[in-house]
Order: sequence, then C-alpha cells, then structure tokens
Amino acid sequence: MKIYTDISLKEKNTFRINSIARTFIEIENVDEAKEILRTSNSPIFLGEGSNTLFISANIEKPIFSPQIKGIKIIHETNDFVDIKVGAGENFDKFVEFAVENNYFGVENLSGIYGSVGAAPVQNIGAYGVEIKNVILEVETVSLQNFETKMFTNSECQFAYRESIFKTHQYFITSVTFRLSKIPFYSLDYQDIKEELRDKNLSLKILRKAILDIRNRKLLDIKKFANAGSFFKNPFVENEKIIELQKQFSELPVFTDKMTGKSKLSAAFLIEKCGFKGKQNGNVAVSNFHSLIIVNIDGKASGLEIFNFAKEIQESVKKTFGVTLEIEPSCV
Ligand SMILES: Cc1cc2nc3c(=O)[nH]c(=O)nc-3n(C[C@H](O)[C@H](O)[C@H](O)COP(=O)(O)OP(=O)(O)OC[C@H]3O[C@@H](n4cnc5c(N)ncnc54)[C@H](O)[C@@H]3O)c2cc1C
Repeated sequence: MKIYTDISLKEKNTFRINSIARTFIEIENVDEAKEILRTSNSPIFLGEGSNTLFISANIEKPIFSPQIKGIKIIHETNDFVDIKVGAGENFDKFVEFAVENNYFGVENLSGIYGSVGAAPVQNIGAYGVEIKNVILEVETVSLQNFETKMFTNSECQFAYRESIFKTHQYFITSVTFRLSKIPFYSLDYQDIKEELRDKNLSLKILRKAILDIRNRKLLDIKKFANAGSFFKNPFVENEKIIELQKQFSELPVFTDKMTGKSKLSAAFLIEKCGFKGKQNGNVAVSNFHSLIIVNIDGKASGLEIFNFAKEIQESVKKTFGVTLEIEPSCV
C-alpha cells in the first residue's frame, strides 16, 4: 500500500482538474483494502479518473485507488473462458488480451478509457455492447462489514449506465468475465458496417475498426481535457415524446434494448438549446460533439465545469421539460 498526502490530482483525471487530495492511497491487494477501508470515513474510489469530475478544490475525504493487478484464466471449457481481472488493470489492455487470444464479447468496447474496477460501476457500453453482457461476478470489499462480498451478474442490478456500485458502498477488487470461444460478432451499428466494408472479418479487424472510428469521432483527451459523454440520454414516457414531436418533428428517439423504454438523444436537446460549441470562460461544449464538455487548456476548475453543466441542464429543462442527468461521478 502506498499513502500520499496533499497531492495534485491533475494527472489522475482526464478533465485535468487540479484539485488537491489530502490523502491518496494506492491499494495493491484485497487484504490491504479490508484493513485500510475499516479505518476510513466516507472514502472516494478512483480508477483512472476518466469518468470523474472533482468539484472541490480540496478533497478532504481519503481517495482510494485500486492498483490490484492480474489477468488470470480461472476456468475454461470448449465454449467459453472465465477470466479474473484485477480492478487496477487498464480496461483496454484487457480487451486487447481478449482479442489477441480469440475470446469474443468485449471487442466492441475497444478504446474505452479507464480501469477494469470502474467498468461495472456505470455498466460501460459502446457500439451495441454493454459490459454486463460478459460479467460473471464482481468481487468487492463491503463498507458495511469490511469483508469480501461477491456479486453475481443479476445482483449487480445493471441498467443503462447504472449498477448497484453507484451507491459507493463496495470497493471493487476484481471482476470475472465470461468470454466466448465460439465466434459471434455485434455488427449492428452503421459506422461499423461501413468501416468493415471490403474487409475479412476477424476479432483483430473489428477491434481496429472500432479504434479507428473512436479516433475519428472522439476528442483526443491529450489535447482536449474531457470525460467523454457528460450527460446520459434521458428516458422519457411515450406521452411526452408525442408532445415533443409536435414541436420538434426531427426529434431522434431510441428504444433501449434491455427495457424497451424510449430514450432521447441528449446531444440533440443540447444542440437545440444552442450550446454546441458554446464557450463560457475556460469551459466549452465541443463543436464536434455536444455531449462532450471540454476543459480548455486544462485551465478550468471543476466548479466552473459543474456550473456550466447546470446551465445546460436548466436550459434543456426549460425548453423541453426533460431532466438531463450528469454521467461522471462528481466529488
Ligand atoms: C474520451 C472518453 C470516451 C469515453 N467513452 C465511453 C464510452 O464509449 N462508453 C462508456 O461507457 N464510457 C465512456 N467513457 C467513460 C469512462 O471511460 C468509463 O466510465 C470508465 O469505466 C471509467 O473508468 P475510470 O477508471 O477512469 O473511472 P473513474 O473516473 O476513476 O471512476 C468512475 C466511477 O467509478 C467508481 N470506481 C472506480 N473504481 C472503483 C472501484 N475499484 N470500486 C468501486 N468504485 C469504483 C468511482 O468512484 C466513480 O464513481 C469515456 C471517457 C472518456 C474520457
């Protein structure tokens, strides 16, 4: 275990917010987690900080960073393989491992930032695949009794960008994934179809296609500090959609595969409110993608970003009567 005091968090979050952590603790195994969590009051968990916004300039609560490593095959049959991965591993490194070994199920999630431990927290998803599809179980240390608590897939209460881990009551120490040895591909997205045209399909080719699409479509965090999508696509009742379609005939509506409920495009709502490309001090909505908020040259404080986000939320609420929920964890 490594303990640091009064350190800058600037290099530990993709928004590059320069908050100061009073106590920052790197945890290297489950026993350390049990020992140190017992003595801590309201800890904050931090992986690679790609879905976190630090609002306070000084973070007084202790920050726990999992550095638990390892990618280990724990069971395998002719059809599938179970792989236990430490929470401190980089998620894309695990995807690369899966693709290299011809294990199917996570290739569409290629290029998503962050740690393995954070992946179940918001049930990460991209290009028609969510991590819940391949999670067998999640190992945690519970803040109720500081003992190991295992979660089966159904106990994780996964939903669109949601899980039980958003209660911050469980420190995830490892995740076990069940990947298929039998080939199957998720190729529903138009972007993927176009990128793969005239190519022979394989896991490696699909991973490269997705990385290429993401490189084209998303902002480079080294140049534009951001945390990916800042707002979730909101679920709305059908009556509300009918009402809005009378005013906005081009309103995009999606059906959530899991629940069958209707979702609106947060990007469309933000754009219609005139925020695409809008700058306010050191913060801007990207003119490339209106779901992305950028900390210009890393000069904004977390509070500036948060206040700008509130302005967007209020404007969308006033114009459409729809509440936009912030995706990153705000601390
Ligand atoms: C450019 C960009 C593109 C992105 N694209 C996507 C995308 O396509 N799809 C998608 O779903 N997400 C996307 N994201 C968001 C982000 O990559 C994911 O949410 C990722 O899982 C965050 O991992 P992290 O380790 O950086 O999490 P952090 O920001 O460190 O933490 C996120 C949350 O998880 C909690 N947490 C972290 N580790 C643990 C742990 N061990 N135990 C318990 N709780 C923990 C934190 O407390 C916090 O609430 C994108 C982000 C960026 C910057």
